[in-house]
Amino acid sequence: MPLIDALRLRTGIARSFEAAGATAREATLIAEHLVEASLRGHDSHGVGLLASYLDSIEAGRMVLGRPLAIARDLGALVVCDGRRGAGQVMAHEAMDLGIARARAHGLCVLALRDAHHIGRIGHWAEQCAGAGLVSLHFVNVPRHAAVAAFGGTTARLGTNPFAVGIPRPGHEPVVVDFATSRWAVGKVRVANAKGETLPDGILLDADGRPTVDPSRLFASPAGALLPFGEHKGFGLALACELLAGALTGGATQDGSTETGVTNSMLSVILPPESFDDAGGHAERVEALAAWMARDAGSMLPGDPERTTRARRLAEGLPVDDASWAAMVAGAAKVGIADLVG
Ligand code: NAD
Repeated sequence: MPLIDALRLRTGIARSFEAAGATAREATLIAEHLVEASLRGHDSHGVGLLASYLDSIEAGRMVLGRPLAIARDLGALVVCDGRRGAGQVMAHEAMDLGIARARAHGLCVLALRDAHHIGRIGHWAEQCAGAGLVSLHFVNVPRHAAVAAFGGTTARLGTNPFAVGIPRPGHEPVVVDFATSRWAVGKVRVANAKGETLPDGILLDADGRPTVDPSRLFASPAGALLPFGEHKGFGLALACELLAGALTGGATQDGSTETGVTNSMLSVILPPESFDDAGGHAERVEALAAWMARDAGSMLPGDPERTTRARRLAEGLPVDDASWAAMVAGAAKVGIADLVG
């Protein structure tokens, strides 16, 4: 598996998106997001998406040059329409707007509906935390049912991710960010490519029977992932579907499937000062972080990603051979001969 210099690859990926018709700003935002996801160890949402994103542009599933549209504006509540614009651009602009509104109004509830794939949701929590704001994010993945209900046997929901970001002045933020399925689809795909078996309790086959064979998720008819945390994870996955999809007016699951992924997201963005003019929030967060750290084996959410990021930045990004071949072929199709040149 080759190790690729992340910063050179970021330039090559940005050049590929520009060659496919993206503006310099769009290309930079998308490339930065993909490289940051890989640096943080979430390869399923990283640079390996280059070829499929380029395919989506060619097929019109991702629409470039599309400004973020505002469908409804109540000041502290804004509904944005992604209209299949590049998810990394739509979500970045939506978060910028949400941050400004949260500062002006003391909070902002921001909906972004029907953008092309918005990637690693922790990225959006980090954008808010970088501006000093707490945020919660509920996301759905319509027309991509891959997860069974608790007690169910067939795919009914997407892998509907959930994220929370808590800024810590002078420290890195807490970033809770996970799919509500027991495993993300990308991880099952990697296990399948490596010919590995899954642990028990991850997957059902198309007949609703437990299986450790990852290929069952991609078979026709397909199997279904299980939600994490039994009825509790299922409840959170359903809440993501209802909040991000049904409440915002975005698409929800209807039994159809499509090539390419769209996401809708409901975000709640909160300046800590809204709760406490005296600025005690930071002190209370640090007291809790110190209490947690007294259990030597524990980490805070966001720490594992930062450790991986530091290592991969120094050593290079591991990209498996199949993904690298697809990335090189995708870039070549838009006229970029050398992704790390
Ligand atoms: P995961 O199971 O790796 O969990 C990650 C979370 O757990 C992070 O907050 C991480 O800091 C924390 N964590 C991990 N180990 C820890 C430890 N030992 N101690 C404390 N905290 C720890 O994540 P996942 O479910 O595989 O999701 C991967 C990514 O996929 C996420 O970034 C998610 O947003 C993304 N995703 C996106 C979509 C989409 O449609 N856009 C869909 C599903 C998932």
